[in-house]
Amino acid sequence: MSQAAKNEILKRMDLSDDVVFSAVEILVLSTDLFGKLIGKGIFEEIKPSKIVQCDGCEELCIQEVVFSTDSVSGVTRAFIVCDKREEIGRIEVSLDDLKQWQLNMEKFSQWLSQQMHIEDPGYSIISNRLWWLGKKQVDNKQVDFFLFRGLARTDAEQVLRDVEYIRQCKNPLLLVPFKTETNLPYTLKGKIISLDRLLNFSDSGIELDFSQIESILRRMRTDEKRIIKKFPTPSNVSWEDVTIEFLSDREVLISAFNVREKVDYEEMGLDKPSGQGFTKPTNLWELLVNLAKIESNPKLNTQQIYKIINPVKDRKNISRLRTKLKSYFGLEDEPFYSTKEIGYYKPKFKLVWPVHLNCE
Ligand SMILES: [Zn+2]
Repeated sequence: MSQAAKNEILKRMDLSDDVVFSAVEILVLSTDLFGKLIGKGIFEEIKPSKIVQCDGCEELCIQEVVFSTDSVSGVTRAFIVCDKREEIGRIEVSLDDLKQWQLNMEKFSQWLSQQMHIEDPGYSIISNRLWWLGKKQVDNKQVDFFLFRGLARTDAEQVLRDVEYIRQCKNPLLLVPFKTETNLPYTLKGKIISLDRLLNFSDSGIELDFSQIESILRRMRTDEKRIIKKFPTPSNVSWEDVTIEFLSDREVLISAFNVREKVDYEEMGLDKPSGQGFTKPTNLWELLVNLAKIESNPKLNTQQIYKIINPVKDRKNISRLRTKLKSYFGLEDEPFYSTKEIGYYKPKFKLVWPVHLNCE
């Protein structure tokens, strides 16, 4: 029954703030499994239930439990009074049957971090909703792991958007109890993986299969490469309204009106394989870097500019970059001014290469 226990635990974890299992439910699902979870502190015993299903009548009525302690012996006993059939009256209930255990989400999130061999302990970001589990290297990328419940709730996207730390994160990965693998909304970079896929439940306890995370991420990355997600350019934007600012030699911040997005060369489709599943920027990305350096250095004369981008030699690449940019932004106009008028390749959009990047 550990598969049923897994479904029940994860489903409740996603839906309700307090995940409580009764003694009867645990008996039906798996006493061994719950014993292990209780041993780890993931489930902890809470106050006994105050309501119970009556087994005196045939109506399965729900009754409030009355506790009474004998003043002489000090022994506490529990009763219910069935009001469905008069002759039944007071029925004693076993105290063991009223026991219940609650899922301790803090302990569960700590257990997840331990299973991933994350050294720094995580912490709760939003009480009972969102936890940071720590950082870990996955496929040569530093990934920030989070645990999030209630992804299906209507406020989920807004809740995540309001968390500064996730917005700033380069590679956030959200573990959620139930949900098919997907990407976060475009304003939040990162991915979502369901715990349902990662956790193995058996009578001997639960385990997290980290290799699943690696293979799911690898597959998602391959899928992404096939379809380059376009920039969500607002309507009525022209090239003059677009700013591309380099944050590093791998990453840019793009803004157009109120839309701002951090993307890297891979996400703009300017990557090529460099062996062992890794990528490197194409020469079109290098061209964009050089254009930015020229745009950000007003002291350069034409001769110096020609040394960086040659109007004859680089003509083909400029033309390919033009096609890429038009497709990525979904804009039909030409992104560059006519070289006949200007004398060199000058973008209509603002292209920024910050001075401090030269020192790195
Ligand atoms: Zn009854």
